[in-house]
Amino acid sequence: MAPARPHARPRAGARPGRRGLGAAAGAAAGAAAAAAAAAWGPAARRRRGGPRRGRRARRARGAGAGRAGAPRRRRGPLCRAVARAAQARAAERGRGEAVGACSERRGAAAGREVSLVAVSKTKSAEAIGAAHAAGQVVFGENYVQELLGKAPLVPAAVRWHFIGKLQSNKVRALLAGVPNLVAVETVSSVKLADKLAAAAQELGWGVDGVEPLGAYVQVDTSGEASKNGVPPEEAPALAAHVARACAGGLRLRGLMTIGAPGDPGAFDRLARAREAVSRELGVQPGTLELSMGMSGDFEEAIQRGSTSVRVGSLIFGARQPRAPAA
Ligand SMILES: *Cc1c(COP(=O)(O)O)cnc(C)c1O
Repeated sequence: MAPARPHARPRAGARPGRRGLGAAAGAAAGAAAAAAAAAWGPAARRRRGGPRRGRRARRARGAGAGRAGAPRRRRGPLCRAVARAAQARAAERGRGEAVGACSERRGAAAGREVSLVAVSKTKSAEAIGAAHAAGQVVFGENYVQELLGKAPLVPAAVRWHFIGKLQSNKVRALLAGVPNLVAVETVSSVKLADKLAAAAQELGWGVDGVEPLGAYVQVDTSGEASKNGVPPEEAPALAAHVARACAGGLRLRGLMTIGAPGDPGAFDRLARAREAVSRELGVQPGTLELSMGMSGDFEEAIQRGSTSVRVGSLIFGARQPRAPAA
């Protein structure tokens, strides 16, 4: 199949989106995504001031892994955004505010800024839109099909993190159907990293001034067979592979862990894994993010070094149990 090169012309406002939702991707993405692609592709994103526009976007987001200085994020807007997002739903009033305020307070106490990925799985596009209207920009989803369905329905300026188990055979559909994907947090094998890097480059990430796709190496810090991720001792090798061999399409942003409930030691193990990774790469640990902490433990995670918390139910309310996968 001829590679789609939607980002070949980075000139803003030049022409409508030309991302080819190729046959495979189109089928997987479904009719909604295909219909939305023209109005919503990368060129449209550039027109609207979407998220992946090279240096300027990078600066706005702060220096990332491998660049000078520690990752920097804005602090105040996080709090206000989450607060307003919560207020968008009277029933949830106060929740988001608590998350934002706590994140900022803890982060400030630790001399760090902490970013928030609002985990919107099982929640409607309307709920995401309300949170976005209130200022939250980064959202996380953990099922490919669910994200493919929702992505075209939310504002184009939303930036997505994929935070779920990702099978190599779904990589292309994910990237083709979600042009505003900015990071995959669940890179747990060389094979997956290679697939992501190839698809990212083919579809325009890391090409012609467009940001590479962010990648986090997922680490299994609790030694649970059910958890995904590499054991901590394998993190340096995988991170080095992502940072070097995959550099064309991916940018290593840091490490991610879920951690067993009630095991805050998992956060310390991720922080130690980052030390090892930074030695392997010859960079300062602070240039690598630590994505850890959810609704139940984000404060603990921040105290133990988190730079990015992934919070869902505390913001959007409890989730209904998911229907069994088909
Ligand atoms: C669902 C999910 C979250 C958010 O969980 P909450 O307890 O709702 O905050 C965070 N990270 C991952 C990987 C998830 O799947």
